Amino acid sequence: MSVEKVGGRRGFESKSNVDKASQYQQTVRKQAEILKTRYPEEVGWIEDVVQAIDFDELRGVFFELTAKSQVAREDVNFIPRENIFIVPPSVITTPGSSSAFKIEENVILMSAQEMLETRKKRGEIQARQIILYELIHEYCHAVGANRAEQGPYKERSDVDLREKNVAYAKVQSLIEKKSGKDQVIDSANSFMLFNEGITDEIAHRVLETYLSRKDFFGITASSLFKKEKEGLFSFSPHMSIHYRTARTFADMLVDRISKISEVPKDVVWNGVIGDYFRGTGLPKELLDEVIGPGFTYNLGEAESAADLKDLAKHFDFSDPRPGTVERLKSYFRSGIRFE
Ligand SMILES: [Zn+2]
Repeated sequence: MSVEKVGGRRGFESKSNVDKASQYQQTVRKQAEILKTRYPEEVGWIEDVVQAIDFDELRGVFFELTAKSQVAREDVNFIPRENIFIVPPSVITTPGSSSAFKIEENVILMSAQEMLETRKKRGEIQARQIILYELIHEYCHAVGANRAEQGPYKERSDVDLREKNVAYAKVQSLIEKKSGKDQVIDSANSFMLFNEGITDEIAHRVLETYLSRKDFFGITASSLFKKEKEGLFSFSPHMSIHYRTARTFADMLVDRISKISEVPKDVVWNGVIGDYFRGTGLPKELLDEVIGPGFTYNLGEAESAADLKDLAKHFDFSDPRPGTVERLKSYFRSGIRFE
């Protein structure tokens, strides 16, 4: 038995996995429908916000970005509108997240509860911003190079090894196959937080480009980022301290590489973003040589803002916590190219 594709950019290899994915989509669609029957006004409000997004324009923005990264159009996994589901929070199994991209099923899930709580606490404008922002964030994961494969595990014949790559992040799981039901019995992951930092950077770029072209309830790129500075985004899970630190950390790494290699910073950023879409990964040996021994291993293991702070200290970066580098951030922002 060989390794089989079970999802990701190039899809599935066997019909049974296609069936599993469509079965999952049916189940989630049902849950979304039940939720809407129970809360027609609330879910309807979220749907109206999603409906206001021009998905053709958004796809165009992703096409431009991926073309720059030499990714063929047929490899751009732009999730169709009907594969976005507004669901109860229990459906989203990623801890602490209010939305998720599921690689094996090729769907984006959004938690209605989180969005409605934001609407209640922060008002409609804020909730609309978050919905647009989180959707774009999940689209980045979906469009980025992703791959899921499953094959035999050497140690046990009743267990499969599943490997998932979502751009820079890697997840390995051991799957026990019991009477047709797969159960994850162990898993390990790496570069998860670093990948979120890069995802967040790309999401900000896409968001800004999109808002510069399309009206979205009168929210403009400049009003949004001004609001972000005022901290209005800070409560959102995708803008948690960990994600924001990861984004700042990535920016510092890019800055360091730019200085060492004497290559302009935006060129280095384009390289990092290009690798995100191409799936080529980090040039680990080169980075370890340039930044220091063990750097990429520790970056892969980093799971929190505190881990990144330790890493920054050890490798002599400045403190990457967003609060302390606000001045640097405004400098970085002026270096971001949107054209
Ligand atoms: Zn994410």
